Amino acid sequence: MILKQNRNYRTATQMIHAGTMRSSYGEVSEAIYLTQSFAYQTAGLAEMRFNGEDLGFVYSRYANPTNEIFEKKMCLLEGAEEGRAVASGMAAVSSALLCMTRAGDHVVAARAMFGSCRYVIETILPRYGVEVSIIDGTSLKNWEETIKPGTRLVFFETPANPTLEIVDISEVSRLAHAVNATVIVDNAFATPLYQKPLALGADVVVYSTTKHIDGQGRCLGGIILSNTDWITENFQNYFRHTGPAMSPFSAWVMLKGLETMSLRVEQMTRSAIRIADLIAQHPAVEKCFYPGRADHPQADIIARQMSNGSTMIAFELKNGKKAAFNFCNTLTIPLISNNLGDVRSIITHPATTTHQDVAADARAELGISDGLLRFSTGLEDTNDLLEDIERALNAS
Ligand SMILES: *Cc1c(COP(=O)(O)O)cnc(C)c1O
Repeated sequence: MILKQNRNYRTATQMIHAGTMRSSYGEVSEAIYLTQSFAYQTAGLAEMRFNGEDLGFVYSRYANPTNEIFEKKMCLLEGAEEGRAVASGMAAVSSALLCMTRAGDHVVAARAMFGSCRYVIETILPRYGVEVSIIDGTSLKNWEETIKPGTRLVFFETPANPTLEIVDISEVSRLAHAVNATVIVDNAFATPLYQKPLALGADVVVYSTTKHIDGQGRCLGGIILSNTDWITENFQNYFRHTGPAMSPFSAWVMLKGLETMSLRVEQMTRSAIRIADLIAQHPAVEKCFYPGRADHPQADIIARQMSNGSTMIAFELKNGKKAAFNFCNTLTIPLISNNLGDVRSIITHPATTTHQDVAADARAELGISDGLLRFSTGLEDTNDLLEDIERALNAS
């Protein structure tokens, strides 16, 4: 295997070259090692492989060459020491939480989050005797009052799905570290291009790679990134013995996604900035939330922790569900769907889809009203998107 790696390259270069391992054939595009296990020349070599004296692959449930290339690339992008690719974003979130909690622990999470993340924290963790506090994460005072000795970890998404609410990563990390709690950040919306939680003080970063990293709507995936100590002490055995690993085929698709991610995300963001401006000034719109606009309620934190806006826009129409459905049904280019970060623009009505399972009062608390829509900006021509969205706003 030929390994090419250099921490000094800039992001775009990393995306193409970092972590690449080539077989003796010297293939240009990475090989897909679609194999469950690995064979050994001799029984003695098998023994050494299992006891760690010989470093090499054993079984794809815990290590595979294609997955390792993807993990290495993500580590370099994120500034992490170790990464483990898993089967979906939810496999990343649930295993990062479950691997380190035990009965009697206390977990604090910001309430603005993806419906399934909320289910894991609110419903699954308490079954195992974990005490859970779900708070309004936009207020530092709430974090200060809730984090206590015995808090094992804190979890939040920023920007959050779907309302694009922000949590102050460095301030919350400071509060959590004062009681030795681990900080886990779901960075799916920001992408590794626009926000580096580890550099801001977080301990663990999780992604749904289903989103911008694949970026072309093909495969589910997730990844967990941290330092070597956290992976060794908390994650490795959990991962090895519970089996949430990513398929090498999906890891290869993710590698192809990474090669173009910066071009895609930057162009999608350029369009999103113009679309957010159109939406924000339209009379049918009650509110527009976009991290790249000066009127975002947490623009000060965004300026400190994010290097650019987002491909995602959330907005609330004045006439509730009827207007939201009219808007979706009038659009001709965006798909009505629930993925995001795709090259195709996607419109989602969270209250009736991704957050349908969240109780109505909790939805109201989160600002997921019947008029709220989430728009994921794709790679179509910006002017086509602007014309289509304006027509749909007029008709809503
Ligand atoms: C989509 C998403 C997830 C879940 O990812 P899957 O790949 O669908 O399992 C988790 N967190 C956030 C913020 C998401 O947007």
